[in-house]
Amino acid sequence: PHYLMWFRRDLRLHDNTALTALCERAQADHARVSAVFFLTPEQWHAHDTSLVQVDHIARTLPILAKALQAQLNITLTVQRCPSFADCIDELSILSQDNNIRCIMANHEYEGNEIDRDEKLAKQLAKDNIEFVRWHDQCILPPQSITTNDGDSMYQVFTPFYKKWRHTLDISSIQMHEATAINNNKTKLKLSKDSATTLQDIEALSNKVVSAYQKSRQKTDLSQHLDMGAQLTKARAAYPAGETAACQRLNDFIADDIDDYDISRDTPSLEATSQLSAYLTIGVISPRLCYLQASLAQEKLHGNDGDNEDINRWISELAWRDFYRHVLVYKPALIRHKAYKEETDKKIDWSYDKDGLEAWCTGKTGVPLVDAAIRSLNATGFMHNRLRMVTAMFLTKDLLIDWRLGERYFMQQLIDGDFASNNGGWQWSASTGTDSAPYFRIMNPFSQGKTHDKDGVFIKTWLPELKDIPASILHSEDKMRKELAKGGKFADIDYPVPMVEHKAARQLAIAEFKKS
Ligand code: FAD
Repeated sequence: PHYLMWFRRDLRLHDNTALTALCERAQADHARVSAVFFLTPEQWHAHDTSLVQVDHIARTLPILAKALQAQLNITLTVQRCPSFADCIDELSILSQDNNIRCIMANHEYEGNEIDRDEKLAKQLAKDNIEFVRWHDQCILPPQSITTNDGDSMYQVFTPFYKKWRHTLDISSIQMHEATAINNNKTKLKLSKDSATTLQDIEALSNKVVSAYQKSRQKTDLSQHLDMGAQLTKARAAYPAGETAACQRLNDFIADDIDDYDISRDTPSLEATSQLSAYLTIGVISPRLCYLQASLAQEKLHGNDGDNEDINRWISELAWRDFYRHVLVYKPALIRHKAYKEETDKKIDWSYDKDGLEAWCTGKTGVPLVDAAIRSLNATGFMHNRLRMVTAMFLTKDLLIDWRLGERYFMQQLIDGDFASNNGGWQWSASTGTDSAPYFRIMNPFSQGKTHDKDGVFIKTWLPELKDIPASILHSEDKMRKELAKGGKFADIDYPVPMVEHKAARQLAIAEFKKS
């Protein structure tokens, strides 16, 4: 028999659940094994996948192909297949042409992905071809953490986290390691637009990235961006492949994790792991992240040791699991519904084009918000604290529909991920599960004072403000006064704050209080 590994958001060899299972089964059945990955530009476009993320995937593929060949004796075919519907057709044809009896893949939990898999499973079943999927994206799979009194999903993070930690403490999660396939000279019979040699994979991926760049540049919210510059920065910041990702994890644990709890909220320190881009496309295993952190915990404090910094980092990994569990519990989220559906009826969200444009271009007149957005536009990454500040500003100070901000983030972020992004946006908009209470609205100026005391981050991204003392930058009244005509900094080309925070806050609270 001939078996096929279908790579999706799991672009690695280490601890890849489906890959390990397929190799084991192939050894037992003396089967040949091939692997495939589809480049799906139309689907990416429909999902607002950012150019930097597509480029990251494209850069990862030749590295994955090389490692698969060298370590497991498996050839990867990369194929351009514009939409998910095309993938279904292509896999059916591939299976027939190559006498494939079993396809394995890791689960994806978003709506179109689930539909695609279900349609494919039905189609393959007609020809007696197995399609086996494995849970791999989370540390503990969706639906495995349920309330004690039944089988319901925790609506609040803290009890979810307690149960999640307890489950991990009493179980020993293991890394899956695939074994090489013997005598595996198999190559798939190719359709057009596909590649198997490293050179061809690189050429095909580059071609698809270039075409994608052109199509993305035309989209409404991204027209102002220099996407070429964003790509260059993201490439330098995120070297591709699992070796680079694992190295980053090791370095973070060796050098930075023991300051995480106090430093993680200071954007200028870059004190977080910056692993999200790798986790999102599956270049690193979330279980490996958890295990390494737990090992560091044990080394520092023995078996029952506790370290606030390490615990905090592990809890962030749990947030990632939590939002995936939430998505599986409430699939309507993928159809742009609020978790608290009543907010969709109650709140009269604004769709003000000028307001949205000021926010997307970093021209709101609020230094921390603008610096954060400009850092995102320039690099494809934004610090977590700033994601909360900018999302709250859009949804509370401007009362603009959170879905517009969610979309803009997906279009720019290298780590764009539906579950975490939707979770973060609905948290900030107070429409989500366990979200920020609607009356607790962050003041972006006080946030600047607390988390960017000397204005280092602000001045990095807004060099036009370099001469303004931090005491002015962090005060809305002083900024208004000094930037206005006759003010000390009236000559600087930077807008006065576009809304008055106090008044905007009252309006937002009134909107949420409406019955
Ligand atoms: P670290 O602080 O080192 O954390 C380690 C890992 O834990 C991260 O890589 C990430 O996988 C996970 N994590 C950390 N915080 C969160 C969180 N709040 N929710 C879910 N997972 C978390 N994260 C994404 O991966 N993709 C997104 O599209 C995304 N959009 C967001 C949108 C908003 C409005 C908000 C408030 C948060 C969003 N996050 C998203 C969560 C978080 O901001 C990023 O995961 C984090 O900034 C990535 O940096 P890091 O890898 O250095 O994180």
